[in-house]
Amino acid sequence: MTDRGKSYGRERDHMSTEEDDVVSPSDLGGEGPPVEEKPYKIVFEANKCFGAGKCAEVSDTWEMDIATGIAKPKTYYIGEEDLAENIEAAEACPAKKDRGIIHVVDRRTDEEVAPDPHGDGTLSVDW
Ligand code: SF4
Repeated sequence: MTDRGKSYGRERDHMSTEEDDVVSPSDLGGEGPPVEEKPYKIVFEANKCFGAGKCAEVSDTWEMDIATGIAKPKTYYIGEEDLAENIEAAEACPAKKDRGIIHVVDRRTDEEVAPDPHGDGTLSVDW
């Protein structure tokens, strides 16, 4: 089974309180494969992608969608073998003034591994 075509949205309504606005990576997406098999998860702010293609240049997990012109991950769950290239993709992404819109999250700790602009593992999405 593949995760292709799945997209993660923010699973809360627009009437949320300030406290509710803290997004925990584990709130996003489905259950996915066992953590032992795929310890990392990708959270992608697709609506901010402008198709620069850097991600697809450095990682096989990423491809450009010809129809939409934006990037698409082939899967949202990755193992150790694909971690380095996805960190590279997350750090290479120039969207959001270089802060990046590809987020690699460690499912075991629920922390952002990359790009981690805050340096504290909090999820750096802007939804
Ligand atoms: S590098 Fe970032 S902006 Fe460029 S295609 Fe990939 S996700 Fe989109």
